[in-house]
Amino acid sequence: MLEKVERIADMICRAGRPVVFTGAGVSTESGIPDFRSPGGVWDRFDPSEFTFRNFVESAEGRRKYWELGREVYPVIRKAEPNAAHFAIAELHRLGRLDCVITQNIDNLHQRAGLPAEKVIELHGNATRARCLRCGRRYTRDEIHECLEQGVDIPLCGPPCGGIIKPNTILFGEAMPEEETREAERRARQCDVFIVVGSSLVVYPAALMPLYAKEAGAALVIVNLSDTPHDAYADVLLPGRAGALMERIVERVRQRLA
Ligand code: NAD
Repeated sequence: MLEKVERIADMICRAGRPVVFTGAGVSTESGIPDFRSPGGVWDRFDPSEFTFRNFVESAEGRRKYWELGREVYPVIRKAEPNAAHFAIAELHRLGRLDCVITQNIDNLHQRAGLPAEKVIELHGNATRARCLRCGRRYTRDEIHECLEQGVDIPLCGPPCGGIIKPNTILFGEAMPEEETREAERRARQCDVFIVVGSSLVVYPAALMPLYAKEAGAALVIVNLSDTPHDAYADVLLPGRAGALMERIVERVRQRLA
């Protein structure tokens, strides 16, 4: 394991444009469950009910969505960045990070000190919401307050009354164009691409490591369980993101000192 940590640190130090790609596994140590580990959200809720179409076309779909959101959002709100988020933010301070491409919606990379422009959010951000009719923006805290007061389907304020949707990408919803394009560009330009805490089964996000590899970057995967892309990895480091990323970045810091 130490040898792999050393190799990854070396790759990061030599790289001109290291990119980190994160998934739900980078935030489990902050207390936010991932989707696919046992006991995750989809063991208790049926994912097919939480589609974009169901949300925009059916009041019942929106009611169910907000019922789940009312349970999940407080977990996100109270979560604090963990050692992995801080280690990744430290890479930026050390001048060793081109950007983070994240599938996460929890805002924890930014809260760990990474400037917002360094974080490409492929699946949106759960701390914000907006009206689908007039575009008015809301904080998720405002919406959560409504839910707590007994509103089951929050609507935009008068005179609009439009559907309010969180700024997260629902199943079946188009990916944000600019972010997806930029993520692909950065993946293709980087020289080392480090996956941290992702099952790499959600597409098109899971294409990013393949774009990087195709363009000649070294691929590193730091994850608790196997992924379908493991065979493409130059270094595969199984384990928990917090301790491993902390060690890697510690070695980067020592090498650069
Ligand atoms: P996933 O749930 O499919 O996979 C998470 C992976 O992380 C698993 O392979 C698991 O073995 C690994 N993992 C769990 N804890 C870990 C740890 N401490 N260290 C290292 N690895 C760990 O997550 P995904 O690949 O991100 O895809 C799921 C989708 O769920 C994404 O679209 C994402 O938007 C969304 N999601 C986000 C959050 C969040 O924002 N925190 C939470 C749940 C789901």
